[in-house]
Amino acid sequence: MDAENSSFYNFVIVGAGPAGLTAGITVAKRGFTSIILEKGRLAGPKPRGESMAHMPIVDDILGEGFLPSIGFKSSGGRLWHSPNDLQITTTHKSGYDHYFFEWREFIDRFTEVANDLGVKMLFDSTVIEPIEKHGITIGVKYKSMDGQIQEIYGNAVLDCSGFEGVIGKRYGIDYTKMNCPIVKCLISNANFNIKENPDLEFYFIGNGDLSYSFDFPPCVAYFFPLENRRAEVGLMLRIAQVPNMKTVKMPDNDVILKVWSKIKETYPGFSVFFNDSNIDYEEITSLPNARIAEKFVPNPGVVLLGDSAGFVNPFGSSGLYYSMEMANFWVDMISQDLETIIKLNKSGLEINENLWTFNKIENYTIKFEEQQVYKEVKNMYNLIGAFEYKIFNRLRTSDKINKKWDYIASLLNQA
Ligand SMILES: Cc1cc2nc3c(=O)[nH]c(=O)nc-3n(C[C@H](O)[C@H](O)[C@H](O)COP(=O)(O)OP(=O)(O)OC[C@H]3O[C@@H](n4cnc5c(N)ncnc54)[C@H](O)[C@@H]3O)c2cc1C
Repeated sequence: MDAENSSFYNFVIVGAGPAGLTAGITVAKRGFTSIILEKGRLAGPKPRGESMAHMPIVDDILGEGFLPSIGFKSSGGRLWHSPNDLQITTTHKSGYDHYFFEWREFIDRFTEVANDLGVKMLFDSTVIEPIEKHGITIGVKYKSMDGQIQEIYGNAVLDCSGFEGVIGKRYGIDYTKMNCPIVKCLISNANFNIKENPDLEFYFIGNGDLSYSFDFPPCVAYFFPLENRRAEVGLMLRIAQVPNMKTVKMPDNDVILKVWSKIKETYPGFSVFFNDSNIDYEEITSLPNARIAEKFVPNPGVVLLGDSAGFVNPFGSSGLYYSMEMANFWVDMISQDLETIIKLNKSGLEINENLWTFNKIENYTIKFEEQQVYKEVKNMYNLIGAFEYKIFNRLRTSDKINKKWDYIASLLNQA
């Protein structure tokens, strides 16, 4: 491992999504080198989240005013529909403006900023596994564009590969317990009027509520209104309670898509949006919002950031802001130590050994857990855990959930 070597970078970043790109940009701003390895032909090859609050970090990373320039401001309201759309509760988020935008425009801006700062990015490069020395992760192996297996080394490996967590998985993170399947769908000519439906809408569907799939997990169908009668719609399966629910069978993708088709055609209230609409995009993917990773440093030398750490707000399935904050914070923290260690004239593997001692790892974790952003995510996981236990596990079906809706509405107001 040699700092003069062209395959050595201070930070090796796996994945060019919001977490990886924020990490690369922050590394460059702190004066260190990084390389981002992305398996797609371009950054963030598949669309994921397309809405977020206009938090200060968005301006810091993407430039002031950028988000409003590509975004459509939402009303900030959320509408919660009880099973079978029998009752409705509205809640309002205060604070920052919330915007909708197109994934491609959003991600391309990260790439543009990263390029301007000289961040090296390799596309068509799929990371396969970590490389270790003396128990410390010092790099990764990846399959390059020409099919060759290459190695790249660094002082820190940041796993920003999303819900697939390619490095995290190698160190024992069980993504099957963290990931929830989700259908993402974009429609045009949708049947709604933005003046009448300005809010984000969520339809609760309990276990046993669907006559065509009694053992389907509890889920939430969502509707996000966009401009010009376009909308993002989808289905989030809520699997956190599933291991304790004998009446639920975990469906495969074919079953999920069949159920989704029926929901689009017939689900009370929700199906109305689809009358005469066109489907522009529809895909099933996963989002890690059943639980957070137990460790953010699963091995000395590796940090899980963003979705690979399950660092999302599970209530709204929102992870863009959280992945950016997390990446920014960890890179800043590691950079400070790296700077000190390098000043002490350390070199080669010695740097990594000093950077990744047991005490340092513990300190990094403690410092992060003191952050407001961590406390927020942790709180949301606790809240949703209790909420889903009561609603989806204990009450479970439409009748019972509807009877207790006033109580449920009071919990929703806390989210
Ligand atoms: C349907 C859907 C809707 C969502 N809606 C919202 C929303 O409205 N608001 C919000 O805030 N959040 C939303 N989210 C969540 C948000 O999109 C994620 O939390 C966020 O994208 C996480 O960023 P990330 O960089 O950690 O992971 P990702 O965005 O998943 O990026 C990971 C990157 O790693 C690459 N990669 C994977 N494996 C490898 C490998 N082996 N080698 C190299 N590269 C690899 C991938 O190609 C990808 O580019 C939504 C997610 C989904 C799925």
